[in-house]
Amino acid sequence: MSIKVESGKIIFKMYKVLARKYRPQNFDEVCGQKDIVEVIKRSIKFNKVAHAYLFAGPRGVGKTTIARIFAKCLNCVEGPALNPCNKCDSCIEITNSASLDVLEIDGASNRGIDEIRNIRENVNLLPAKSRFKIYIIDEVHMLTPEAFNALLKTLEEPPPYIKFFFATTAPEKIPLTIISRCQRFNLKPLKKDEVKNKIMEICGKENIEIEEKAIDEIYDFCEGSLRDAISLLEQLSVFSDEKIKHQDVRYLLGLPEEKSIEEILKNILDKNYTKSIENLHKLISDGKDPVLILEGIIKKVKDIVISKLDIEKIEIDEQLVKRFNNLKTEEIFEGIEYIVEFKSILRREREPVLFTEVLILKLLQLWGNNKKELKEEIKIEKKEENKIKKEEEITDEKKENMGTIFDFKEEKETEKNEKEGGQKIEEKKENKEFNWEEILKKVKRFRPTLEAALREGKLDRIEGENIYILFDSKYNFHKSMVENISNKIKIEKIIFDLTGKKYKIIPILNKNSKSIIENPEVKKIIEFFNGEIIKMEE
Ligand SMILES: [Zn+2]
Repeated sequence: MSIKVESGKIIFKMYKVLARKYRPQNFDEVCGQKDIVEVIKRSIKFNKVAHAYLFAGPRGVGKTTIARIFAKCLNCVEGPALNPCNKCDSCIEITNSASLDVLEIDGASNRGIDEIRNIRENVNLLPAKSRFKIYIIDEVHMLTPEAFNALLKTLEEPPPYIKFFFATTAPEKIPLTIISRCQRFNLKPLKKDEVKNKIMEICGKENIEIEEKAIDEIYDFCEGSLRDAISLLEQLSVFSDEKIKHQDVRYLLGLPEEKSIEEILKNILDKNYTKSIENLHKLISDGKDPVLILEGIIKKVKDIVISKLDIEKIEIDEQLVKRFNNLKTEEIFEGIEYIVEFKSILRREREPVLFTEVLILKLLQLWGNNKKELKEEIKIEKKEENKIKKEEEITDEKKENMGTIFDFKEEKETEKNEKEGGQKIEEKKENKEFNWEEILKKVKRFRPTLEAALREGKLDRIEGENIYILFDSKYNFHKSMVENISNKIKIEKIIFDLTGKKYKIIPILNKNSKSIIENPEVKKIIEFFNGEIIKMEE
């Protein structure tokens, strides 16, 4: 398994079992895109199939799936049929990507010059055994200008048995000369109900238990891409022991907890700069991406507006909604606009934390409670007054000396207090909640070999959220087993379930035992023979 983080989003690569298993094999199974499917069926029925089609739309909405089913319909032994039989040789070969007459080319992988040249050379050869020779070119916009030129020549006068199905996420990058020769279909992101129904259908068939709110979270993440939704579901089914909960989705995606977002909003409304910045820093030190934090705020505020305007019933902190009642809807939207604006800045800037802080200041100014502001202003005024009085009492010379000494002492003391207080709380929590044996027991229940591997290491120390596990060099294998990302995630999830806190497992090698060469006796022997170690055996 590999998880790739790309601009704040996790893209799952290896988990494709479910996606493959539930890939639609006929038009009736296609999720959404009903209008497009209807048009295609009609063209088959009335024998009006064009020679080139362009399927444009966001990722994971069914572009190549529809193209493949279309190809099957055209070449099916029973066809051209409105739905493929999925039993004949042609259908089976296309399903297995083994058809000699339906060729799939990935425009992104090598930008296609050689492939397109091949098409040009082979275009006059009849199909090997089917009715049509069909080229499905995915991400066609990635082709080089030379490849497009070559393609254009073929498109101008295609033999009747040649069909082109192009798929793209960026139709604007395709030359108009190509687009004008295609029948174009614009696929839309899938609707919430469409994705939800599909997810529930898969969960039913696979015996996966899932909370409805978790499906909502999956939909919010996948933004209408069914492929992303299914990949995420598959990840979650491995990650969660029993029922998949919405917290599991948030945890796996690195999304901030809803409560932390609500906390920030409350402090913004209170015009409490210090606390809202503290909230922000806490999330960032927990490893949350500022962009995802802002997205979390936007989503929460959107829910608040929906609730405030009584558009839809949603589960939300009523108190927080009430707090927003003091604000005009336009003011809320103005704030959202700021957040969106800052979100795009964050992607470009090198100091996302600083910019997020500035944004919070802006929101404080816009949304902060005015009454509170008055109180604070009075407080500040009083402080200023006192300061002036004090200053007047002290002579210039004294002021300089006392000022520096006094400030220095005060700073030191608060720092010390904070440190001591902080440590005490930390220790208490660890003693209370962190039970390594219990964690090992839970790991054992999940996978005994993993627990055995963990036991070969020693719980070395806990620093903040990092748990260091020390392994002797001879247990390198066990260390790598703990390091394996899916095992690591699992252990961290177990710890999270038991302690309610997010920890990171960091396996380390014991440096003292790192190499036998370090042993003074061995050193002597090596020196004596003036040699070197060429092989080590246990
Ligand atoms: Zn067939």
